[in-house]
Parts: sequence; structure tokens; C-alpha cells
Amino acid sequence: MGDQLRFDGQTVVVTGAGGGLGKAYATFFGSRGANVVVNDLGGSFKGEGKSSKAADVVVDEIKATGGKAVANYDSVTDGDKIIQTAIQAFGRIDVLINNAGILRDISFKNMKDGDWDLIMDVHVRGAYKCARAAWPHFRKQKYGRVISTASAAGLFGSFGQCNYSAAKLSQVGFTESLAKEGFKYNILCNTIAPIAASRMTQTVMPPDVLENLKPDWVVPLVAVLAHSSNTSETGGIFEVGGGHVAKLRWERAKGALLRADSSLTPSAILAKWDGVNDFSEPSYPTGPANFMELLEDAQKLPSNPA
Ligand code: NAD
Repeated sequence: MGDQLRFDGQTVVVTGAGGGLGKAYATFFGSRGANVVVNDLGGSFKGEGKSSKAADVVVDEIKATGGKAVANYDSVTDGDKIIQTAIQAFGRIDVLINNAGILRDISFKNMKDGDWDLIMDVHVRGAYKCARAAWPHFRKQKYGRVISTASAAGLFGSFGQCNYSAAKLSQVGFTESLAKEGFKYNILCNTIAPIAASRMTQTVMPPDVLENLKPDWVVPLVAVLAHSSNTSETGGIFEVGGGHVAKLRWERAKGALLRADSSLTPSAILAKWDGVNDFSEPSYPTGPANFMELLEDAQKLPSNPA
């Protein structure tokens, strides 16, 4: 049944679809009946230059196999133009895959404002602009699916990628908030942290490892999350690639509860440091409400020992 997932009549916008993961998504959706907007600025992986060729090649490929696709060459920072392409060509938008991305890897010591700003612009502002333009359509039709792209670099940190890591983790907070705002309008929003062979990874991983990391192995999860048969999975973070798919979540240690008064000193915290680090009885917070319960408990405690 899952093999039959189709998207007939739906419009899927894939940003950065001229190569790598985006191309794999676009060709898949095109082969499953969707109208596809193939967006790509066509620059280098460092964000230099632009060209219409990357998007055109993918559009031609989809059309050659009987699919429906149009190209869009705008930067994701002009997300409204990309969504406008979908509306003009197909009259609607159902799925937004925020995938476009670039790298400006450099040690933090040597990082310039330009390295930081460009990464923030493409990943953070780009995802915002595309989702912001799609949102009124999703709300009006009470249907929408958003897939955002984080990265292990954002979730765990990565040497030489402070800018990229910050931008990629932002996708988690952004998308979880969209999930909360969108749920009652049937707008489901999830984040993936993929790993796949692409021009982004070809210089940092050996060829035999890359061989097992085809972008095609990321596509099925994206299809599941983007499909109308997904009616409840939202606000999730999924690690995916090379045949591995797993959900990630926040884990809170047992923690230390302290009375919040003048006895809450550094030494009071140090006295309870084991608890701060104790993951033997974890909890799995999903929002600030869990935290508020803890605060109420803290206020019932006597003052902390000196
Ligand atoms: P890629 O370089 O092959 O694809 C990215 C595409 O985005 C390119 O075609 C590029 O032209 C396009 N693009 C860049 N800036 C753009 C802009 N401003 N507007 C429109 N298009 C733009 O790399 P990929 O590996 O396929 O990466 C896809 C996404 O997955 C990125 O967001 C990347 O950060 C993320 N990611 C990839 C991996 C991996 O292992 N490949 C790991 C973690 C996250």
C-alpha cells in the first residue's frame, strides 16, 4: 500500500530541486502524479552564481517520463515568487519541501559576517519566506504539508560549521512552531535530518560510504510525511539516510529541584549536580507546560541548605 502512495492533483514545491536530495524528491513526486515546482537558483554549493540549467534539467526529466513540472529560478529568499509560480502554473500548493541549502564551512576563528549572514539568509530566511507565502493557501484549503531540512550538524554541532549548525537547528524550532499553529488547519509540519551523497558531502565522505547513501533512500520518508494518509505525524524530527530512519526527541534528566529564593546559590546547585546530570529516569518534554509543572513543585520546597 505504501508503495502506491500517489499525489495526483496535488502541487508539490521542492526548493533546491536542481540536484542532490531536491532532485530526488522532485522526480519522485513527478512520477507519482504530482504537479511539481522545481525551484533552484543554480549556484555553487557555496552560494555563488546562478543558472537556470539545474532546474531545467530536472523539469525536462520529469516531463520526459510523463510527469508535470515547471521550473522556478528564484532564490528561496524570494519565497513568495516560488509559491506564485505554483499558483500560476497549477492553481494550488499542497506540499512545501524546504530543501535548498548551501555551505560556508570555516573555523569560527576565521568566520566573517558574510559567511554567517549568507547561511542564515538561505536556510533561515529562505525557509521562512517560502512557508510564509504558502501558509495562507494551506489555511484556506485546510490542507498543507511542510518538510523542513535540518542536519546532524545542527542537532549535534560540527567542527567548522557554526554558521550552518545554527541555521540548521533553527529549522527544528521553526517547524515545531509551525506544526503547533498549523495542526487545526490540517497543516502538518516535520523536520528531517538527512544524510545522502550529494555535491555537499562528496568532499567530506569516502566514495564507498557515499555509495550507500543515495538521495533515493531519503525520499520514501519524505513521501510518507508529505502524503494525505499522514493525518497525525507532525512536529517530528527524523534522522534519515542509507536505510536508517529514526525519530529524535528531547530528553530531560531527572534534574535538581531547588527552592527559588535567596538560598538558590551556586553551591546549592553544585550540591545537586548529580541530579542535574542524571538520565536514569528521563522525561521527554514536548512543550513549556511540562516545565511549568516543575516550577510549581520547586515552590513547595523548603529553602536550600547553605
Ligand atoms: P545540493 O547542493 O546537492 O542541493 C542543494 C540545492 O539547493 C542546490 O541545487 C542549490 O543550487 C540549491 N540552492 C542553494 N541556494 C539556493 C537558493 N538561495 N535558492 C534556491 N535554491 C538554492 O545538496 P544536498 O545535499 O542535496 O542538500 C539538500 C539539503 O539537505 C540542504 O538543505 C542541506 O543543508 C541538507 N542536508 C544535506 C545532507 C547530506 O548529507 N547531503 C545532510 C544534512 C542536511
